[in-house]
Amino acid sequence: MILKPKVRGFVCVTAHPEGCAAHVQQWIDHVKAKGPIAGGPKRVLIIGASTGYGLATRVTAAFGSGAATLGIFFERPSEEGRPATPGWYNSIALTHAARAAGLYAKNLNGDAFSDDIKQQALALIRADLGQVDLVIYSLASPRRTHPTTGTVHKSCLKPVGASYTNKTVDTDKGIVSTVTIEPASDVEVADTVAVMGGEDWEMWMNALSEAQLLAPGTQSVAYSYIGPEVTWAIYKNGTIGLAKNDLERAARNIDSLLKLNGGGRAFISVNKALVTQASSAIPVVPLYISILYKLMKARGTHEGCIEQIQRLFATQMYNGHKPKFDESGRVRVDDWEMVPEIQAAVRAIWPGVTTENLAEQTDIAGYRTEFLKLFGFGLPGINYDADTEPHRPML
Ligand code: NAD
Repeated sequence: MILKPKVRGFVCVTAHPEGCAAHVQQWIDHVKAKGPIAGGPKRVLIIGASTGYGLATRVTAAFGSGAATLGIFFERPSEEGRPATPGWYNSIALTHAARAAGLYAKNLNGDAFSDDIKQQALALIRADLGQVDLVIYSLASPRRTHPTTGTVHKSCLKPVGASYTNKTVDTDKGIVSTVTIEPASDVEVADTVAVMGGEDWEMWMNALSEAQLLAPGTQSVAYSYIGPEVTWAIYKNGTIGLAKNDLERAARNIDSLLKLNGGGRAFISVNKALVTQASSAIPVVPLYISILYKLMKARGTHEGCIEQIQRLFATQMYNGHKPKFDESGRVRVDDWEMVPEIQAAVRAIWPGVTTENLAEQTDIAGYRTEFLKLFGFGLPGINYDADTEPHRPML
């Protein structure tokens, strides 16, 4: 099958197996080039391990610290005439590379919110690893079937309290327009908190603790975002922001649990805004990311997921370092994004961006390149005119 990108709005419905593998290899190469991370984790459970920040964490743990990794994700395998989702191919590539390097790597593809996947993960950890010493919670999901009530909660990306009007960009067509988003209802707020809040993270950690699968000193980290004022109505103060507040609540509970377990800890790492499948679905944010990329590249401080997580491990969690918490107990690897000069420059550019000047005022080209890379397209050394086999078994 010859696989080319087919972009539909903010998703690409195709993915390229060799291209995804090349993308994963670039991340592995980055981590190896940075050198070993001393005192790093050895047995890691990553929930949301197949793309974005979770995949970057898996690569960093495996290739920076020689860790055994168990990856949980929810990806669609290939079907007749249709390639798999990129996280499927990424996970195969990661697993191949890890095993070739003599590292343990196993995968569970299924719904992390379910009791069934949790029980499967516990059984695998017990049988293969004994215990884990790092648990990463990096899910980004549009829905959750609650394991006890059976209710299907759907998350939404809406402002709370009042409607919100701002600029947005159709990243595929390159059209800048104004979007107005009506505020979420109370039910929508509660549903988004149920999906993207911290209850499921707590369920995972309680289940691991009760099964005595947490090594003394285990750490657990979940990822969040805060960002600049221009996106607050849709992010920090919107439905997703309220869910992230709940994630912080859960972090405090889990931290107490882990402190009693040989002095471990749990915390939230606030990461940089980056092109991922999750962030491309948020209105307004892709325009902000396009401006941000231009400014951070010019300053030499631009990072992708892998640079962010390698820095988190190497300068905050391991290598003889301790996390530097902000006033709310969060680790900030969004620090380079949030420097006042960068944010002042974003504010200066924002009002004047139009469809006509999008290419020069923003890094929309870089945004698109990164977006296609998520699906394995545009990687050097890949012949995209060659036939490729889309059916690849999960390892
Ligand atoms: P992503 O879409 O790239 O990854 C999501 C992961 O979750 C994938 O591995 C997917 O398979 C998995 N997943 C989704 N639903 C699942 C389910 N039901 N069961 C099992 N696995 C499931 O997203 P991302 O952008 O890397 O986001 C990960 C975390 O990082 C989120 O908490 C997000 O808010 C946070 N974050 C993202 C950004 C950003 O700009 N992208 C910035 C800061 C923080």
